[in-house]
Amino acid sequence: MKLQPPPDAIPQTALYPMFRGERVIEFVEKEVPEPEAEQLLIRCQANALCASDFGQYYNGSNITPGHEAAGVVVAAGPDTRIIVGTSGVVFLMDFCGQCRHCHMGITNICLNKRADYGFSHDGGYGPYALINENVFFPTGDDISPAEATLLLDVMGTGGHANRRAQHAHPNISSVLVTGSGPIGLGVLAMAKLLLGEDMPVLITDMVPYRLKLAERLGGLPINVEASDLVDGLKHHGFDAVDVAIDTSGATVARRASMDVLARRGVQVCVGHGGELLLNVSPDLIGGERTVMGSEYFTYQELPESLKLLREHRDYLNQIITHRYPVQEIGEAYNKFVARSTGKVIVEQ
Ligand SMILES: [Zn+2]
Ligand SMILES: [Zn+2]
Repeated sequence: MKLQPPPDAIPQTALYPMFRGERVIEFVEKEVPEPEAEQLLIRCQANALCASDFGQYYNGSNITPGHEAAGVVVAAGPDTRIIVGTSGVVFLMDFCGQCRHCHMGITNICLNKRADYGFSHDGGYGPYALINENVFFPTGDDISPAEATLLLDVMGTGGHANRRAQHAHPNISSVLVTGSGPIGLGVLAMAKLLLGEDMPVLITDMVPYRLKLAERLGGLPINVEASDLVDGLKHHGFDAVDVAIDTSGATVARRASMDVLARRGVQVCVGHGGELLLNVSPDLIGGERTVMGSEYFTYQELPESLKLLREHRDYLNQIITHRYPVQEIGEAYNKFVARSTGKVIVEQ
């Protein structure tokens, strides 16, 4: 039997980063909350930076952000099952477990969602986060907190987008990913892990650093600043693709993807924002193409991601390119917004 070391004493107050807007982040003393029934207090150890934080980074927030958190349970309220000392990650969306969608396993589209940790309630950039137990996913101590964060937006969101495409296309032979930011790299990696390592995955961006990283992960890079998408595909020997997954949120990228989508092809929208301009007869009806959205991922996808992370650890760890202590979160953001990064992690 492995004995757990006693948990660190939990202080009454601690320093939490607060996003003041216009890229200003200050550390402020706040009370450390106590877990009530069905709640856990997490000592946050790592949180990955995400473009979804940019609203809070530029406009400010009343809570401490961070929605890609890994840490350890340091206190558990009444009626909980998870024991103090358990390591794991926090699923962003506090699903109710009772609604029609939760009963169907669609926990990412819960009809009575109670919280978005890191957006509506304190998230993982602070030293402690109070969560409802149902969103905690234990990982085991063999996975470090930094790599555990890969289970969330990188593998989770990336895997879900591929699974959405598989629902609509039973025989995928090529994938295009538009945008090589951290989510795009996650979609690429999960396409390789879920659809087969020989699956051709074409991937676009304008940032050379990100395209190099995509190539290291097995992608076929296309620099859409240097050539248009059609020529970029041709360069790799393709005229069309079965699946296009957009992580850029750019209207122009989605339209260009539509123009190279094979008949019966599927476009999956993951990146928020912008529009998708369609000519219904030629784009949808004529070729029986499908357009769908993909939102985060379901809690139920986490066990398979954990298994894949254990099996492909070195491959997936390449997506993490920068790490900072949380005290240097401002520096971490400066680096991340300059775009020559994969995933950037802050640790504490
Ligand atoms: Zn994120
Ligand atoms: Zn629900």
